[in-house]
Formats: sequence, structure tokens, C-alpha cells
Amino acid sequence: MRKLFTLLATLFFALFSAGELVAQSPAVVTLVRAGRLLDPRTGNVLSPAAVLTEDGKIKEVGSPSQVQADAPAGVKTIDLGSATLLPGLIDSHTHLLLNVTLPTEAEMTRYTEFQPGLLLAVAAKSPAERVLLGAQMAREDLESGFTTVRNVGHSGIDGDVALRNAINAGRVPGPRILAAARKLTPLGGYFQNLNPAIAEPILQQEFLQVASPDEARRAVDEDLFYSVDLIKVVADDNGAGITVPVMTAIVEEAHRAHLRVAVHAQTKIAIQTAIDGGVDSIEHGNAVTDEQLKMMRDKGMFLDITPTWYDGFATKIYDASIVMSPAFRSALVAGDDRARQRAAARVQRVLKSGVKFAAGSDMCWFYPGKTRGQASATMFTALHDVGMPPLDIIRAVTVNAAEMLGWQDQVGAVEPGKFADLVAVAGDPIADISELERVRFVMKDGQVVRNDLASH
Ligand SMILES: [Zn+2]
Repeated sequence: MRKLFTLLATLFFALFSAGELVAQSPAVVTLVRAGRLLDPRTGNVLSPAAVLTEDGKIKEVGSPSQVQADAPAGVKTIDLGSATLLPGLIDSHTHLLLNVTLPTEAEMTRYTEFQPGLLLAVAAKSPAERVLLGAQMAREDLESGFTTVRNVGHSGIDGDVALRNAINAGRVPGPRILAAARKLTPLGGYFQNLNPAIAEPILQQEFLQVASPDEARRAVDEDLFYSVDLIKVVADDNGAGITVPVMTAIVEEAHRAHLRVAVHAQTKIAIQTAIDGGVDSIEHGNAVTDEQLKMMRDKGMFLDITPTWYDGFATKIYDASIVMSPAFRSALVAGDDRARQRAAARVQRVLKSGVKFAAGSDMCWFYPGKTRGQASATMFTALHDVGMPPLDIIRAVTVNAAEMLGWQDQVGAVEPGKFADLVAVAGDPIADISELERVRFVMKDGQVVRNDLASH
């Protein structure tokens, strides 16, 4: 007992004096100057602009002369020339532990679109392999300007939680991660036709299957045990679905723990179940009706738009991957055109409805020739090509996304008190949204991740 006390006392004093040391070390202060700073909230541009960061947070934003006057003498200064500064980007729908290869033309007739790539990714790779893959994807996202991501499933039992913790501890580079761990799904999840001999362990690794309100609450608690930041639910898949009482139980249990609920819902029925269950965001929402948009708006519910497939993505990725017969390719192009038209009509309805919206890449595909960050950044032109104005696109991945995540006090804007997460592009992203595919400067937590604008 006495030994234990001595040990605890020693530990206490060790911690106490370490704390004192930290308190005494000088603050890390950096001044970032740029030709322009875009405020996505208002659309206003400050020109020229300066941002003072201290210990990973934004301390002051203003004109260079004003900010310089408030900065300590000899402050470290980063001059980005005529570049445009923006808040760090937020990808609110990622799958960092997936990198699915699309099946070839010959295989397409034998499998559904989602297999066998997804199956291979979750069943043939060990959890350790997947986390290391996630570490690469996370670094690549960060290098493209995504300083915060919300990872919504396909991470094994706790892979994205482990990755989040490793990034926060400085062991590997990457964005801030909100981790969802296992998705709550109806029985079967995505895999209805798995080999019965091995199905159960694979399903248990990937999903928490729920069929009743009690199971729903238990599943939320299991994810809570692994320290998730949100609960992800699949409301519809292959005909199976979550019922309103189950959804309501999920939301109650999650909200009790102050966590938000993001729901994959594509069909009209699943979207209605999510709305009736009181969820916080609906992911994809492909078949959303005007009436449902109005209900979502009235409840303050977010639509998380996932535009990756809006703009000929299938053709692009197949062109870069495999040889196709002319017939296969023209069928692919025709499918892309239909998807683009549907998306354009939907995006116009969303904009008109006044519903709150954010955007996420949903990128989980191997895209030859592109890093994960570059692949994810194709969502900006995809949204623009279906008619979303540039400022709305930028809001969808900054202020709006921050609000959807419940992190509006921490990220999504260049304002005092928020994390010092900044990106810069060479040109004007309002005039040319594809500038966001070419992020030249990334700062996270006040630390420079990349700077291609440095003159020396
Ligand atoms: Zn997804």
C-alpha cells in the first residue's frame, strides 16, 4: 500500500513538474501573409491578408500591417505572395481504410458493382494492413488540403479510431479524424451472399447488425466502447432496411452520449426513416423528394452530398484502369450522362430548398495516377459541373461541414480561437473552382504540411 502511494506521489510530481515546464516554454507563433483571404461564410475577400497563429490556434486575422503590429518582434513569417488563403478543407465522408479496385469488364457480369473489390478490401486484408493503408490515405488527404475528415465506416472494428489517435499523438501525419468505427446496418449489411462458412466473422469485423431497438442501443454502446466520434448507420441496402423504431433508438442512445448520427440513405423510404428517426445528417440522399428536403430544412437536418460519381467518374477511372470494348465503354458513358443529369436536377432542388448541406468525397476507389487526396479533390469540379456555384461548394467543405460535424467552434473558418488549419491556392477559387484540386500550401495545427509557394 505504502509502495503504491509512493509510486502515485512520484507520478503526480513528475506530471506536475512536466506541466510547469510546458507552461514556461515560449509560445510557437507564426505569421502567414497572402494576397487574399476568402471568408466562405460571407464570401468577402480580405486583400492583402495576414493570419497570426499561436500554439496551433488562430490568434488574429487582419491586414498585414495591423497583424504585424500585434505580433512579437522577429516573429516567424511565411509569405505566400499573391495566393488566396482559405480555411483548411473538410471532407465529411471518407473511407480511409478502403482502396477498392473496380472489377474488369469480364468480371462485371459475374459480380455486382460493389464486389469483389470491397470484399477483398475487408476480408482479405488484415486489420493491421488496413490501418497502414489508412495512414497513407490520411497523409495524402492532408497533402491535398483536407485538414479534417469524417470517416464513416469500413475501418474494421476500430481501425479509424486507432488511426485518429496515432495522428493526434503525432505518430503519423494526417487530418483531424472523426471516426465512426463500425457501421450499424440491417442484417447482412452489404454482403448478402458471403460464403456461409466465413460470413459471420467478416460481418462482425465490418458491421454491427441491428434488428431491434435493444440491439440498436447495444450497438451504439459497442461503438462508444471504442471511443467513436459519431455513429454511422446504413438505412437501406439491397432491400433490407432499418425501421423507424430502430433508428429512433439509435439516435436516442447516440444523443445521450452527445454524438451525432450520420445515415447512409439513398431510397425515398430510407430517407424518410432517417428523417422520422431524427438523425443529424443524411448521406447521399439520391432519391430525396422536395417534400423531404422541406422536412429536413424544418428540422435543421443536414444533407451530405457525395458528388464523386456525378461527373463521369466511372468512365474516368475505367479509362485509367482497364481496356474496354467499345460497347462497354459507350454503355459506361451513357450511364455517366444519366447520373450527371439526375445529379444536376437534384443539386438545383437542394439549393432552392434552403436545406443545410455539406459535401463529402465518399472516395474509396483506387484511382490510377492520383493520390487519395487528388482523387477526393475531384469532387469540387464534379459539383460545379452539375451547377453548384463555387462559393456554395467552398462552404460545403468548410463552414457548413464544420457545423454538420458539430465542430463549428474549432474548424471551418479562419477566425481567432479556431485551430490554425489553413490552405492556399495560387489563383481565385471563385473564378476557377479547380484551383482547389491544386492546393499549394497546407497548414494544420499551426504546422506547415506543404508549401509549394515558398520563393526559396
Ligand atoms: Zn460512403
